[in-house]
Amino acid sequence: MAFNKRVKIKTILDQHPIGSEITLMGWVRTKRSNKNVSFIALNDGSIITNYQVVADPNVIAEDVLKKCTTGACLKVTGTVVESQGAGQASELNAKSIEVLGEADPEKYPLQPKKHSLEFLREIAHLRMRTNTFGAVFRVRHALAFAVNKYFNDKGFFYIHTPIITASDAEGAGETFKVTTLDIANPPRSEDGSVDFKQDFFEREANLTVSGQLEGELAALALSEIYTFGPTFRAENSNTTRHLAEFWMIEPEMAFYDAEDNADLAEDFLKYLINYALTNCQEDLKFLENRLLDEEKSKPVDQRSEMRLIEKLKFVAENDFVRITYTEAIEILKRSKPNQKKKFQFLIEEWGADLQSEHERYLVEKHFKKPVILTDYPKEIKSFYMRQNEDGKTVAAMDILFPGIGEIIGGSQREERMELLVSRMEELNIPTDEMWWFLDTRRFGSTPHSGFGLGFERMVQFVTGMGNIRDVIAFPRTPGNAEF
Ligand code: ATP
Ligand code: MN
Repeated sequence: MAFNKRVKIKTILDQHPIGSEITLMGWVRTKRSNKNVSFIALNDGSIITNYQVVADPNVIAEDVLKKCTTGACLKVTGTVVESQGAGQASELNAKSIEVLGEADPEKYPLQPKKHSLEFLREIAHLRMRTNTFGAVFRVRHALAFAVNKYFNDKGFFYIHTPIITASDAEGAGETFKVTTLDIANPPRSEDGSVDFKQDFFEREANLTVSGQLEGELAALALSEIYTFGPTFRAENSNTTRHLAEFWMIEPEMAFYDAEDNADLAEDFLKYLINYALTNCQEDLKFLENRLLDEEKSKPVDQRSEMRLIEKLKFVAENDFVRITYTEAIEILKRSKPNQKKKFQFLIEEWGADLQSEHERYLVEKHFKKPVILTDYPKEIKSFYMRQNEDGKTVAAMDILFPGIGEIIGGSQREERMELLVSRMEELNIPTDEMWWFLDTRRFGSTPHSGFGLGFERMVQFVTGMGNIRDVIAFPRTPGNAEF
């Protein structure tokens, strides 16, 4: 079989091996024909650029050419020749074309015209065949690879934390239950409640909302680790920034304080951006133009001030702003939208939780830079965050990005047993169920820190895609688990 002899379009475009005979395989994007010749634009997903196949009707049978319609899959063998037209250096002079898979032009939903992102979401099984989604998923791959490369090069170990867990101690959000009980007729205890002792795990279980707690266990043995896995939250938030199933990267490091943590997070984000700038130039250029085009329909004041690539370079090259929650509240109190009552949630006093409108004001209007916000009131943060000397705040850190809002949430963890236990008791978190977590503080505890980066939010930032549903292949959101 000649399949293993096929050459990827990316390779051809890198090398332009004029004169050699090669076999290409890919899907037809467009076909233009006149009496003397047909031009077929072929794409195999290896690169955004299509490759031009030139088919002479004296060489390629008419019934074959007829089937080379948009969406059909072809195997083309021919000679690489210098291109006659402008645009690309070479093209393929077809000697033989085999139609591997036809695509009935009357029924194939993707046409060479422009489709809306909303429409493409309904045909997510085909949308990767468009330029936009091809670009998004190549960039997504590059970023995922860069995540592993970054940490591997630094000596961090990749830990696979469980996807099924029995603790929702973090309280990061509503969980999806995992059960093998008959939900129509579950076994009951004497008091009428469902008897989970008879369930698969002999207790209630759910899909993980974060790998952090297990990540901490690993960090207190291997020093520097990270997790990168699927994360599930059943929150009913229908926003452009939330998925029910998303991927999170969670490094966790022994011997790091809050400042070390922020330094790592900033360096990591810049590394990912630089990796994409270096390795995804063509796709980013395409996505930049797509965004420009999309923004043409917006009022001028809602358009981005910078083009995509310029913005990525700006973020990669400049220091992030670092301020405390308390400083942020002062800025927000005095801000125009607060004074003029334009915020939906007005900032009146210290202690208020920050909504995305506030986060975006700080990043997009006030500083015009990524912001690392630290030292939040303990009441609005999780129990495991390290308590500061003031007795009011904890060593939390959120990183806010333009156009995105919160991209990272993290903290220095409370390593002191008594303080951790007393905080858990205040919040009614059962310390007996968390015996294994508390053991790390009981035996060989040490200062340690970590954070969680929402992978899709990062892909959104780098690709400029406005809706998180467009940076994951098959999004899961309230009411939607198709494909
Ligand atoms: P938000 O306030 O935006 O809902 P969060 O504070 O609940 O986020 P964390 O628990 O701090 O989120 O999770 C760490 C990171 O995971 C966030 O900074 C974000 O990038 C990402 N993230 C959280 N929830 C979601 C979600 N539902 N879909 C996609 N990414 C998410
Ligand atoms: Mn958070």
